[in-house]
Amino acid sequence: HPKDQPGKDYIRAIANLRNDPELKARVVFVEDYDVNLCRHLVQGVDVWLNNPRRPLEASGTSGQKVVLNGGLNLSILDGWWAEGCKHGENGWAIGSPDICNDEADAESLYQTLEQEVIPTFYEDRKKWNEIMRSSIRTAVQFTAHRMIKEYEDKFYSHISKKAESVT
Ligand SMILES: *Cc1c(COP(=O)(O)O)cnc(C)c1O
Repeated sequence: HPKDQPGKDYIRAIANLRNDPELKARVVFVEDYDVNLCRHLVQGVDVWLNNPRRPLEASGTSGQKVVLNGGLNLSILDGWWAEGCKHGENGWAIGSPDICNDEADAESLYQTLEQEVIPTFYEDRKKWNEIMRSSIRTAVQFTAHRMIKEYEDKFYSHISKKAESVT
């Protein structure tokens, strides 16, 4: 939001990593994420990395869109992926479901990439396709219908009851 100053400062700090001599060659900051840019990203990748610090991911909708375009997730167990991930069956987890630890998560990311994701991608297309199909079966269960229903059950119905009791 335009008035979210701490949010804007945070994004600026991330964008400024482009000027850090050590990181400069390794960071790409993609501006103005919108439906069109998203379309190109989710259609153009084989593996989607989403690495929020638990429990800050709201949902991780982009990871679901990737799956519907034939990509696979290698992501932190947060948002939809905490519920949807079956490690090695429909994608891969980074780190553990309970502990938020940057160093352990980085170690887990590289280990899974080197030992599972990359070998499967290059050496076992049959398994890769099975994981893709399994992932699609998982992702289609995370619908807007379910989201609206959960907002209603968990939040709106309580608020509306409170409002009724006040009037
Ligand atoms: C998919 C999408 C989002 C959601 O992104 P997350 O990765 O779930 O945070 C936000 N904005 C646009 C325009 C999108 O297409």
